[in-house]
Amino acid sequence: MPITSTQPGAALALDGAHPVASEAPMSRECGNHRAVSAVPASTPCRATSPLAAHDRRSLAEHLSTRTGAKLDTCERTAQKALRLAFREPGECRWDGEALERAGIGAWARPTLLALSPRPTLTLAERAPSSDGTVRLLLRTEDNALVESVLIPVHEGRNRARTTLCISTQVGCARACSFCETGRLGLSRQLTAAEIVDQVRLAALVAAEEQPVDRRGPMAERRPNTTGATAPQARRSRYGISNVVFMGMGEPLDNLKEVLHSVALLTDDVAFAFAPSRVTVSTVGVVDKIPAFLREARAELAVSLHVADDARRSAIMPVNRKHDLAALRATLLEHLPRGQRILFQYTLFQGFNDHLEDADQLAEYVAPFRCRVNLIPANPGPDPQLVSSTPERLDAFIARLVSRGVTTLVRRPRGRDVGGACGQLAGSRRLEVLREVPTCS
Ligand code: SF4
Repeated sequence: MPITSTQPGAALALDGAHPVASEAPMSRECGNHRAVSAVPASTPCRATSPLAAHDRRSLAEHLSTRTGAKLDTCERTAQKALRLAFREPGECRWDGEALERAGIGAWARPTLLALSPRPTLTLAERAPSSDGTVRLLLRTEDNALVESVLIPVHEGRNRARTTLCISTQVGCARACSFCETGRLGLSRQLTAAEIVDQVRLAALVAAEEQPVDRRGPMAERRPNTTGATAPQARRSRYGISNVVFMGMGEPLDNLKEVLHSVALLTDDVAFAFAPSRVTVSTVGVVDKIPAFLREARAELAVSLHVADDARRSAIMPVNRKHDLAALRATLLEHLPRGQRILFQYTLFQGFNDHLEDADQLAEYVAPFRCRVNLIPANPGPDPQLVSSTPERLDAFIARLVSRGVTTLVRRPRGRDVGGACGQLAGSRRLEVLREVPTCS
């Protein structure tokens, strides 16, 4: 289904039928609820508050508060509601009859129907890159613009996986000098619903580009008996293999909403992404890292970019408050035993790409079970920070590898549409596309 609408709610408009759970009599559903007036089965959804603002636990608490039902009863009902709304991509039918068919008791239906499963974002612009990457410009209900990037990766002729990079804030307060988003300043936080809705809209775009394996992420843990190729088996029901919180904004500056969205994305009854396939990236907001590691079922990535304080502070103001020693000490103290971490390092010619920088980086990451992701710099707002030559990149990689560091290189993707790392510009999109020379 082509997605070109900018009307709220129209982008995901699909027709009604949806898999239903078995019917459950009201008396089995809840023995401790307040009496509520029955909602006619055909009552249409007129709700405005988004259902996707809730994960399973917060929805159960919401139900319990509104109805007086026991929390464990509410949690079972919350599971059914989230399964109905989010288990499959596209908009579900959401009325009294659909909820009844999903096994949700009459006591809970009015509260649930006051929540809307419709997405809070609409697609304002879709820019396909020559390399297959698709940059999505998304509009919030208050007309703010944020961006997501769909990045397909091919192995041979097969599409091996599709990574979706999503945003967590409108703009960003962290002002990293190499980043277009940092020039915007922070307008506001995205809600959990707006974070999750990026996945829902991108899934429809991805579905146009590829057949979706509906077996879900559990498929990768089961023997492949369906004839699906191995690459297909790595994709979720949403046609997306990995979700990375590496778009606009610093996720740990919006921790509460990020935690809700991660919980919903990794909930088996909802989006069902494996936690290992959801990565949240931070520039090193040290005081929020312990809470994130304690509460999120997701991987952590840390954008390091240079391993000495003076130069890091020059390009990343966060380092003036939380220096490298504090960052490392916090990670070592709070990372669960055995958990792997990803360090990201963007290479800028003559700034941080010397062999001594590779040695410094290797020393910094030595105590961790980690990988280092090297990122050739993309054209950005600081004309002094340009990409290293391939020769310097190769030498840097060789030095890291010789020091025993597991090293990956992220190929630049989506540069020609302003969708690469550091290029997401939101409301400045058109201006930025005029300013930034394109590469191909
Ligand atoms: S790199 Fe990340 S933290 Fe830094 S300004 Fe850009 S979006 Fe914000």
